[in-house]
Amino acid sequence: MKILVINAGSSSLKYQLIDMETEEVLAKGGCERIGIDGGKLTHKAHGQTFVIEQNLPDHTVAISLVLKELVDGKAGVISSMDEIDAVGHRVVASGEAFTKTTLVTDEVMETMEEIKELAPLHNPAAILGVNACRAVMPGKKMALVFDTSFHATMPDYAHLYAIDYDDYKTYKVRKYGAHGTSHKYVSQAAAEYLGKKPEELKIVTCHLGNGSSISAVDGGKCIDTSMGFTPLAGVPMGTRSGDIDYAAVEFLCRKKGMTMAEGLNYLNKKCGMLGVSGVSSDFRDLTAAADAGNYRAKLALEMFAYSCKKYVGAYMAALGGLDVIVFTAGVGENTPSVRADICHGLEAFGVKMDDKKNEYENDGAIHDLSARGSKVKILVIPTNEELVIARETAALL
Ligand code: ADP
Repeated sequence: MKILVINAGSSSLKYQLIDMETEEVLAKGGCERIGIDGGKLTHKAHGQTFVIEQNLPDHTVAISLVLKELVDGKAGVISSMDEIDAVGHRVVASGEAFTKTTLVTDEVMETMEEIKELAPLHNPAAILGVNACRAVMPGKKMALVFDTSFHATMPDYAHLYAIDYDDYKTYKVRKYGAHGTSHKYVSQAAAEYLGKKPEELKIVTCHLGNGSSISAVDGGKCIDTSMGFTPLAGVPMGTRSGDIDYAAVEFLCRKKGMTMAEGLNYLNKKCGMLGVSGVSSDFRDLTAAADAGNYRAKLALEMFAYSCKKYVGAYMAALGGLDVIVFTAGVGENTPSVRADICHGLEAFGVKMDDKKNEYENDGAIHDLSARGSKVKILVIPTNEELVIARETAALL
């Protein structure tokens, strides 16, 4: 069985064709600048990279070009579109409308239109991606795989905000979380790596990238996560503030003459590591600047690690114990100093990092950073969201 995984952005579209028998990626790539002049497709297959530069006025043209490449005599990996058994689409937010992977139907797409505003930057693009695929591959089975599904198991006392309960009921304002496919992948991979069943483990998964979220996973099920109604909540991130007192936001808006929408944009785009450091949102720049003695870059990194550490501690309490901490994503997989700053100081709770093991050069493999005698395993597991989307789609069929 071959599954095409699509991750559509407003002006971009990433794809992977995965053979489910071997879970091998046969081809992958992405379209850039859809709807903007200067469109480009980068396609990787057979160990080669193929680049096509042509205008991509909309997602339908982009997906047509992707399919043309997939069956192309030189760059292609299949002989016809019929070899694609199904398409799995990444969708960021589902609200309470969908709690699991769902087959695309007209009715489902109507509901998707209704919940567009839950993720205004992402969900409209996913809809464009689905509609483009349905236009180019009529009749092909398609699944929607939601980032929020993994968090659907959070109990009500964990996912609710302490607002008027009727307002939650009416407007569905609550925590939904994000990065669910990544948290699911690494928590399952951790169990597999340790030769245990997911049901046997209490895990804290730290997805630390440009956007970061931390989840508590009990027996394979998510019981809490740091992101909220939107990805703005939780630990401070590349450009997002993370958790903040709303009264401070109202005060800032008043002082700086910002509307509520401008305030939100400020919290999403100008705060976090970028705002504190004044240097960059990128952890490579931050660690370099901190090493060179930049106070604010060092402060930003300290704030990040401190916040992550507090979530790890809180989730240890929520889980009633801890067996594994997993680090993943750009920062989690590549920045030893951040991992060390989060784990150091947790020795009293059975978390002992081997500092030498932590300094390994990223080779894309799973690494166990725990010191001998550490009660809690500390793992780095490269995430693979596309594989989860392909597995979920295949399972649905
Ligand atoms: P997102 O998917 O949220 O955009 P990523 O998971 O790609 O983010 O993480 C991006 C972050 O990872 C950046 O802050 C970057 O500095 C950091 N990072 C550190 N080292 C590397 C590396 N070798 N490769 C990629 N990202 C790295």
